[in-house]
Amino acid sequence: MKVKKMFSKTLAILMAICTLAQMSGMSFAVGDEPNVEIVVSGVADEQKAQLITDTINGEIIISPFGIACIFGHTTAKGRAIETTHRYYSTAPKCRQITYDVVYCTRSSCNYITYTQISNVRVSCCA
Ligand SMILES: [Zn+2]
Ligand SMILES: [Zn+2]
Repeated sequence: MKVKKMFSKTLAILMAICTLAQMSGMSFAVGDEPNVEIVVSGVADEQKAQLITDTINGEIIISPFGIACIFGHTTAKGRAIETTHRYYSTAPKCRQITYDVVYCTRSSCNYITYTQISNVRVSCCA
């Protein structure tokens, strides 16, 4: 499911180590009006977290498997939350979609699948 976004896209990857910074109000967002924010959790590999972010954001095309995965992927699970700020015109204005993510842990492989498990409205923006 893809929604065409009319504002600038902004990514934020939240690794466990960054939780404190995020909570204290620091933002990794760039641009005047951050609109889409994707937070990946439960993925220790920063490169994989970035790949998951880009995939959910629709910026990269997934290659089905790397050469090392001819006999199958080594998969692990993570979670991603995509928040589209000010998506609705009435409060609560923001849309938050949670995905279950399955990815291949091999560095040569871009295999990622994600399943939407919830879609809720949140009121993080006025
Ligand atoms: Zn693989
Ligand atoms: Zn918001």
